[in-house]
Amino acid sequence: MSQETGDRTGQVSEREARAVAEAARETEWRKPSFAKELYLGRFRLDLVHPHPTSDPDDVAAGEAFLAPLRAFCETECDGSVIEREDRIPEEMIKGLADLGAFGIKIPRAYGGLGLNHVYYNRALEIIGSVHPSLGALLSAHQSIGVPEPLKLFGSEEQKREFLPRCARGAISAFLLTEPDVGSDPARLRMSAVPDGDDYVLDGVKLWTTNGVVAELLVVMARVPATESSRGGITAFVVEGDAPGVTVERRNAFMGLRGLENGVTRFHQVRVPSSAVIGGVGLGLKIALTTLNTGRLSIPAICTASAKYSLKVAREWSRERVQWGRPVGRHAAVAHKISFIAATTYALEAVLDLSAHMADEGRNDIRIEAALAKLWSSEMSWLVADELVQIRGGRGYETADSLRARGERGVPAEQVLRDLRINRIFEGSTEIMHLLIAREAVDTHLSVAGDIIDPEAKLPAKARAAVQATAFYGRWLPQLVTGPGQRPSSYAEFGRLAAHLRYVERASRRLARSTFYGMARWQGGLEHRQGFLARVVDIGAELFAISAAVVRAELIRQGGLLPAAGSPAPDGDSAYELADAFARQSRLRVDRLFDALWRNTDSVDVRVAEGVLEDRYVWLEAGIVDPAPEGAWIADATPGPGTGENVARRFLPSTRESAG
Ligand SMILES: Cc1cc2nc3c(=O)[nH]c(=O)nc-3n(C[C@H](O)[C@H](O)[C@H](O)COP(=O)(O)OP(=O)(O)OC[C@H]3O[C@@H](n4cnc5c(N)ncnc54)[C@H](O)[C@@H]3O)c2cc1C
Repeated sequence: MSQETGDRTGQVSEREARAVAEAARETEWRKPSFAKELYLGRFRLDLVHPHPTSDPDDVAAGEAFLAPLRAFCETECDGSVIEREDRIPEEMIKGLADLGAFGIKIPRAYGGLGLNHVYYNRALEIIGSVHPSLGALLSAHQSIGVPEPLKLFGSEEQKREFLPRCARGAISAFLLTEPDVGSDPARLRMSAVPDGDDYVLDGVKLWTTNGVVAELLVVMARVPATESSRGGITAFVVEGDAPGVTVERRNAFMGLRGLENGVTRFHQVRVPSSAVIGGVGLGLKIALTTLNTGRLSIPAICTASAKYSLKVAREWSRERVQWGRPVGRHAAVAHKISFIAATTYALEAVLDLSAHMADEGRNDIRIEAALAKLWSSEMSWLVADELVQIRGGRGYETADSLRARGERGVPAEQVLRDLRINRIFEGSTEIMHLLIAREAVDTHLSVAGDIIDPEAKLPAKARAAVQATAFYGRWLPQLVTGPGQRPSSYAEFGRLAAHLRYVERASRRLARSTFYGMARWQGGLEHRQGFLARVVDIGAELFAISAAVVRAELIRQGGLLPAAGSPAPDGDSAYELADAFARQSRLRVDRLFDALWRNTDSVDVRVAEGVLEDRYVWLEAGIVDPAPEGAWIADATPGPGTGENVARRFLPSTRESAG
């Protein structure tokens, strides 16, 4: 279907918005998917166990990069400087560029390091733990910026022209969001009008991570439909200093100080048609496909943050004595420490399993990567919140203030602030729930689609009913029993076997529950966001338990190399952590199952309607609004810019050094 939607003001209906998202979806499943099977009630342990491992050559190349990277980060990079000055010092960026950190995943043939996902993530963990803005800089450049879309969809000429520049340090940015375009790309207004062999770009982009300093941009713009082309949202690669590009502002945030994030205006920016990536109308598909594995960089940064939280919790809770014992020996704090340790272990398990699966290429990992992003951003936030609580008043105090009083400058409040954005960008938690739910119920939609489509005609519904009866007649009986009910199943996992049996049983129960939801609400299911979110969250926890258990077994068998300079992981302690995590996770799963049918969803929707209709406005009396005036959404009318261009470029342009 055409992606041409909406009127000229960008107004689009819910149906149009959904149609645009649907058109960008990858619909084919050529490889098996562990998570998709899980949602269908089939626990395919064989897809994740034995835990995949990296090729020895990849390990050697990865370790050869990590050693100097770690040394550089330990000796040359001080995160507190970034925090204080709200800028990443130029020499840090230059040092990272010299090490090749801007081309970690770029193939060697194009001047990059050609490392795999596992080592890209490990590098992000090291860099992100110095300061998360460094992680954001590199991941916005490599996970969504110019290199990845070109690697996946670019022509050979584009790859030869741009990838070596990116690898040398041409910082890149990805520009989709506009003041009136957030989670819903169907509203996208920025235009790309064909003019001879060129396109002319006009519009305003918001929250452009790296945009202030970027040399290269991936820009999403709408090509109008013509008689010969369906047009649609299209990705362009654009020079950051092209005439007509103005960075109008550098934005400031709750966290991620040092992020070079801006507002970029395009006024009559002329680009050649060779700047189109992939093809006209493929922009959103490119964005979504890029994110399939690109999404793993957020879990990497979340995992690094949780590891740091664990380190501080361990050291501080032993040292700080109150009421006659170290605070870590008071049960209330011990519960938090256990949660932090077990969750950190599982965060790494989810990240590493997903990345290894991405490298191995045997499975389709788009749901696993999406689950990893969703689950890691939520859980690491809880971990950081517990760390702040364990640190007491010091958790709320800034690192600079602590240092000034003569104490260790632990930035616990900064950890919390920096993590918060991960639940919003690269797909907010709410949007991730919808995106994953769409995949989880995909099989149902394809067999029962016309039955539940309110607009389908009667004959189509009748045909769909016959098809659905045949499918469910075969499928539902399979959900009644399974290996999870046999006490001897998965015995090779020792005491962790019980958790795998639980996952197997819960997977079938989840599929049955999804079916009941479909049967009960039919076409209305898509509006039952509370129900769908719980279905997705149960799947996320089951994936995390599976990852935790297979990782423990990998460690027990000596299959996990220790990180340089760190103690070797041992099987017994990995089993302990996996066991603790699975027990904690199972309680969350049980609560989620219960809440599928016992909740306040309908009441909440009614109350929210009341709020939006001003029914309870009396409740807000007695306060002062600190932000009384101003537009909710800034005007983004295309046209010439009026302000100063605040773009900064500090590295020598890679164009000049090319060839
Ligand atoms: C620091 C930072 C860096 C960023 N970097 C980039 C970047 O490099 N490139 C880029 O293009 N963008 C970037 N963004 C934009 C980011 O991706 C968006 O903020 C995000 O997509 C959410 O859009 P929004 O903020 O407009 O929220 P909105 O879409 O306005 O949503 C508001 C709320 O409603 C919820 N919501 C929206 N639709 C639905 C729905 N259908 N069902 C249920 N809930 C819904 C959302 O989850 C959210 O809670 C960045 C943003 C920030 C703050």
